[in-house]
Amino acid sequence: MNLRERVYEFVVDLAPLPAVPVVGTRRTFPVRRLYCVGRNYAEHTREMGGDPKREKPFFFQKAPDSIVTDGVFPYPPLTSDVHHEIELVVALKAGGQNIPSAKAKDIVYGYATGLDMTRRDLQAEAKKQGRPWEAAKAFDRAAPLSAITPIEQSGFLTKGAITLDVNGERRQTGDLADMVWPVADIIAELSQLFLLAPGDLIFTGTPSGVGAVKRGDRLHGEIARLAPLDVVVT
Ligand code: MN
Repeated sequence: MNLRERVYEFVVDLAPLPAVPVVGTRRTFPVRRLYCVGRNYAEHTREMGGDPKREKPFFFQKAPDSIVTDGVFPYPPLTSDVHHEIELVVALKAGGQNIPSAKAKDIVYGYATGLDMTRRDLQAEAKKQGRPWEAAKAFDRAAPLSAITPIEQSGFLTKGAITLDVNGERRQTGDLADMVWPVADIIAELSQLFLLAPGDLIFTGTPSGVGAVKRGDRLHGEIARLAPLDVVVT
């Protein structure tokens, strides 16, 4: 057995490593960073008041420890307008800088169904004031996720239905083929800005139909060929 020579003694408790279950195994995917793409479906860009021409994608991060894998989303504080955004989440098994689109699929471990939960009222205020988005996007438990389906089981995804139901009613509908920037291009662009690494997760944007949730709501997200996501708002 390979033991590290130096044993660290931490001055405060070591935080648990965020990790996501993997379909068909008891092993888990350890999370390093959590990136998100803004406005990646034309219809959603329009509903947010934007112009969906193919500008460069823009990115933000959520806190890695904001992932939720037990299906419980507590209504967060200091907001009265929390929105659901159903998204394809890409899990990376390798990394690098300046990865060409044609090589992007080589670093994909698999995919999850995710929710980029958003305090929309705080985001609107941040946009108005030209301030950062963290309070709107990176709050505690802001990133519910399904188990990850390895790419060997799903194939490299370029199309397929993506939907979200709230209390049995369809709220969001789209197709992965409608992404302004497909997954390969997202990885290529993101890797110009950041050194990507194993354990990184990328939320790839949401189709139209985003809306508010309230306590007691049951959210059910589905993406073709992936594990579904079930979340209750408490
Ligand atoms: Mn989003």
